[in-house]
Amino acid sequence: MDCVFCKIAAGEIPCKKVYEDDRILAFCDLEPQAPVHILLIPKEHIASAAEITPENSAVVAHIYEVAAQLAKENKLEGGFRIVCNAGADGGQSVPHLHFHLLGGRSMKWPPG
Ligand code: 5GP
Repeated sequence: MDCVFCKIAAGEIPCKKVYEDDRILAFCDLEPQAPVHILLIPKEHIASAAEITPENSAVVAHIYEVAAQLAKENKLEGGFRIVCNAGADGGQSVPHLHFHLLGGRSMKWPPG
């Protein structure tokens, strides 16, 4: 499948890995939007948040657990943001489910 995040998960495209297990991978975003900007992805190809089902949703809880752990490791005691863009209107540019962990600066609301 021609999916950049599947290729990163398979080790075919290099990344700055910060966490990996049998189900998920976390790595630094190529174009960081905050001092800490980590992407967390399921290794299984799920196209977007619109494709989450009772059969595949357990990995999403696991991603949130690991995001909390990474927030601690990165000393984001003051807070952080987890973002999941879905679809064209949601601003999703890579069609493989991913969660942005952003921190190290004060976030604005609402996002653009
Ligand atoms: P989206 O816009 O889909 O929510 O987020 C996709 C993110 O993936 C963007 O923040 C973009 O910088 C990042 N990205 C796209 N291609 C690559 C890549 O090859 N390597 C890494 N590390 N990040 C990427």
